[in-house]
Amino acid sequence: MMSKRTRTFTVGAGVTYPPSVELARLHTPLQLLDHISERFERTVYCKRDDLTGAALSGNKVRKLEFLLAALTDGGHGGVITCGGEQSNHARATALAAARLGLRCHLLLRTKDPSNPPEPTGNILLDQLAGATIEWITPDAYAERDELLERRATELQSEHGVSFSPIPEGGSNALGAWGYVRCVAELAEQLGPGPVTIVSAVGSGGTTAGLIAGCQLYNLPYRVVGIAVSDDRATFQGRIAKILAEMAETFEEDVAVEAEGIEIIDDYVGRGYALSSEEELRCIVDMARESGLILDPVYTAKAMVGLLGELKKAQRNLGEKIVFIHTGGIFGLLPKAAELKPLL
Ligand SMILES: *Cc1c(COP(=O)(O)O)cnc(C)c1O
Repeated sequence: MMSKRTRTFTVGAGVTYPPSVELARLHTPLQLLDHISERFERTVYCKRDDLTGAALSGNKVRKLEFLLAALTDGGHGGVITCGGEQSNHARATALAAARLGLRCHLLLRTKDPSNPPEPTGNILLDQLAGATIEWITPDAYAERDELLERRATELQSEHGVSFSPIPEGGSNALGAWGYVRCVAELAEQLGPGPVTIVSAVGSGGTTAGLIAGCQLYNLPYRVVGIAVSDDRATFQGRIAKILAEMAETFEEDVAVEAEGIEIIDDYVGRGYALSSEEELRCIVDMARESGLILDPVYTAKAMVGLLGELKKAQRNLGEKIVFIHTGGIFGLLPKAAELKPLL
């Protein structure tokens, strides 16, 4: 049965992975971005993690391979997770759950739960996959970890099957293994020479996994995260915490000092999920120059950040750079009206 096939992934021998279930199409390709490479006279690649699948795509799928393997093993009945209105993580979880025969309940943050947003983009896919959506206020969302636990218990008594909570963004010690595996792929594709890996940071699990992977495989890769909300110190703390949990749970030597984690917080722009003209323009330019569709919430900010840093002579990102395209295409659909003047 395709849906529950356990991954037997031989890449990255020498590191012992926790069990995972096959959901993503791996390896994802590495695409040379010739326009950017020529313009800045270095080699800039895009790691196409937007191609981990079609609807079930983006960076969250790599994390879910580990997060859901633990559940299918134990015969759990459902999952519950949370996110913003247009959460890519919620959509990926809803689709993966459907594929694996698990129920899925989503807590999604919206300004006024009595007047929820139209089912466009990711919300439409959540509903197509049969996930139940509970709209919650930003205030309620602030206590999301407690709320996930409480609602999981309540759903269990309502439905008679257990619901396992998955944290925001799938970002915990188990989910981060998805990006350890991504580092192993990169090592095969690029070799062991120095590389700077640049990606968007939203809940920290991707960056944590990348940092852990570089340590576990002993690679001279540098990991730089571009914050899409909050500030540097917040993400340094969150990522260091995930790495400390990985070190403790899996007895791997991956813990690092928070201050040493490279986060750039100069490109948050108007804030989470809000687009500046520069970001929208970047989406249009990338589509036309490289055929790449960036998303408005994460990868457009991260690409504006990468280009901004490349323009600065003083911060040298090195000769070889990999930008991780973490997906998110469905978040673009609700932005059609904002993009229209630029087309
Ligand atoms: C969630 C997400 C990110 C951020 O990844 P984290 O592991 O949460 O930091 C980046 N890009 C896209 C498209 C995402 O959906």
